[in-house]
Amino acid sequence: MSESHLILRDDTPVRYLKGVGPKISERFAKLDIYTLADLLCHYPRRYRDFTQPYAIAQAPFNTECVIRATIVAKQGARRITGGRSLVRATATDDNAVLEISWFNNPYVIDKLEIGEEYYFEGVSSGNLLRRQMVNPVVRTALQVQCAPLLPVYPQTEGLSSLQISKCIAQLLDHAELLPEPLPAEMLKKYRLPRKAEAVRAIHQPHSAEEAYAARRRLIYEELLILQLGIARMKERNVAAAGAPMCLIDPEPFLRSLPFAPTGAQRRASEEILKDLSGPHPMNRLLQGDVGSGKTLVAAISIWAAIQNGYQAALMAPTEILAIQHANGLAKMLEPFGIRVALLTGGLRAAEKRTTLAAIASGEADLVVGTHALLSQGVMFHRLGLAVIDEQHRFGVRQRAVLNEKAQQPHVLVMSATPIPRTLGLLLYGDLDISVLDELPPGRTPVKTRFLKGERRADLYGFLDKEIDAGHQIYIVCPAIEDNPTQDLNAVKSYYEDTAKALLPHRRLGLMHGKLKPKEKTAVMDDFKEGNLDVLVSTTVIEVGVDVPNATVMVIENAERYGLSALHQLRGRVGRGAAESWCFLVSDHNSEQVQERLHFLCNTPNGFDVAEYDLKNRGPGDFFGSRQHGLPDLKIADLMTDSRTLKAAQKEASAILATDPALQRPEHQILAALVEQMFRRAGALN
Ligand code: ADP
Ligand code: MG
Repeated sequence: MSESHLILRDDTPVRYLKGVGPKISERFAKLDIYTLADLLCHYPRRYRDFTQPYAIAQAPFNTECVIRATIVAKQGARRITGGRSLVRATATDDNAVLEISWFNNPYVIDKLEIGEEYYFEGVSSGNLLRRQMVNPVVRTALQVQCAPLLPVYPQTEGLSSLQISKCIAQLLDHAELLPEPLPAEMLKKYRLPRKAEAVRAIHQPHSAEEAYAARRRLIYEELLILQLGIARMKERNVAAAGAPMCLIDPEPFLRSLPFAPTGAQRRASEEILKDLSGPHPMNRLLQGDVGSGKTLVAAISIWAAIQNGYQAALMAPTEILAIQHANGLAKMLEPFGIRVALLTGGLRAAEKRTTLAAIASGEADLVVGTHALLSQGVMFHRLGLAVIDEQHRFGVRQRAVLNEKAQQPHVLVMSATPIPRTLGLLLYGDLDISVLDELPPGRTPVKTRFLKGERRADLYGFLDKEIDAGHQIYIVCPAIEDNPTQDLNAVKSYYEDTAKALLPHRRLGLMHGKLKPKEKTAVMDDFKEGNLDVLVSTTVIEVGVDVPNATVMVIENAERYGLSALHQLRGRVGRGAAESWCFLVSDHNSEQVQERLHFLCNTPNGFDVAEYDLKNRGPGDFFGSRQHGLPDLKIADLMTDSRTLKAAQKEASAILATDPALQRPEHQILAALVEQMFRRAGALN
């Protein structure tokens, strides 16, 4: 590289690297790698550790490991079925024999010398006397000495970890290209290596300790940048004054309801009403398990905001849910002369124009809608409160856009998915949380059962009896159309071939995301009014749908869903006084799936379910950019690195206290990295 005529810069596109042409650079783009800096910052996920090789007989069975052994025989390439080639070698140590085969890698054998000792990394199988390995990675003693830990990179089709490793190796002498974002005193304070050093060490560590120190430094940097970015987003949101309101007594509204609010609903509403009358814009999360009655708390808050002369908006993640909320809230609020408008993507042009005009003039007091509420044409007359339902579906970015549509409205987000409190506070330092920890009276837990497809006929017998008893049923399938590559129940053919066939005399409806909005509404209305006994649907009904007379939820291919999603679906039933059931149907035999589904059967509480998901699937589901509009992290993990997160938050506030806009020369590089991280996530406009 040093003789290269090219002057390398950190923003040089990767295609200028040796061995990387347009095709490979396209594959790099799939990994979000465009420049040399991106490549240098593509960190290994883990390492293959060659420092403690096993003797053949001691190697564990059926797990990845490194074995050291001497080659005693080789066998050249042979053609085998499917046009593949096979080469083999035999290696030994003092006690045992290792048979090695490589498929489609004929040249590997040429590099092996009989009588030489090598390291083989792969999965060992076989029996105590004769061990086998297929397609192991081979390294010489010298190679192991130079680089005892072999990095394993996130790879993509046509671009293996090894290829990536070779590209990065070319660059490591140029790690100094990466500017140092952290001030010298910070490096000293936390005993962190410099960036260039850390990047070199994370790709080619000489020891596990060196790799650890490098990782620690890079995690710290990433979390610092994250915290600076979050603080900047927040700052945009608190600059203005908010919508000042008077404290309002909700009693007149509460008296108009057919039921008394639960204690938890009362407490949460009090907290919200107090926020509304405070000096700053509210930023509150209302957490409550499915069915805990979050909508009522939203209604109280909306009522109060409108009594104060403001408009309110409620945003829902799906059209079905938006329509349901518009109808339900209209029923509660219209007696007070409150005018409710619905804004979804499904409106006809003329309807849309009228609605937009009503929102802009203030004729509409409450606007309920989908993300259509965020579109350009929507201007509010005097928005004072924005409620976002099922917030785990919305990003920070959407929230910011809503904020821009008005002078800093109060914001209430509602979610059934609990954010671990400490993490929530660290990420959104100014977020307040109210919890609905009590279900409305008269609820019995939904009885949850796990069964195999072979018992579907019995299940349908049970469904038939439930319909006789006057109850309604949901059946959920994972796909809309049949797909030859996947063996999943598609809702259309399931509806025709299974549901109709097994319940020939019942009234069945079909619902999925590809129906026209009008059709969706018609089907949903039919179901709500009891004109349908069974609704066969995709997960479009996952969140929020409320039909108290429905008592059975059947979920086909239950293995396809995370527990939190299953719990949401289960939450569609058990909303009335009658005993309710949830059936998880799956033919999946893996132990993990079975354990997961059995856990759900025995666990009624959504917080416990979320905790299990968090432990087993990681925090990505909570903090993935899909849900929160936060950037994807390359190296840090918000759950396991929470102590570093805390330190980074402290340092970020200290930096911003002296240099709020990151304008000082020593903060330029940090500022650029913040911009880059958040621009990519789409969190900044
Ligand atoms: P979620 O928290 O899942 O959004 P909903 O707001 O949809 O729950 O409420 C679930 C059901 O409970 C609705 O049918 C609602 O009318 C009913 N409900 C809410 N609060 C009460 C209450 N205090 N007493 C009785 N029923 C209630
Ligand atoms: Mg809800």
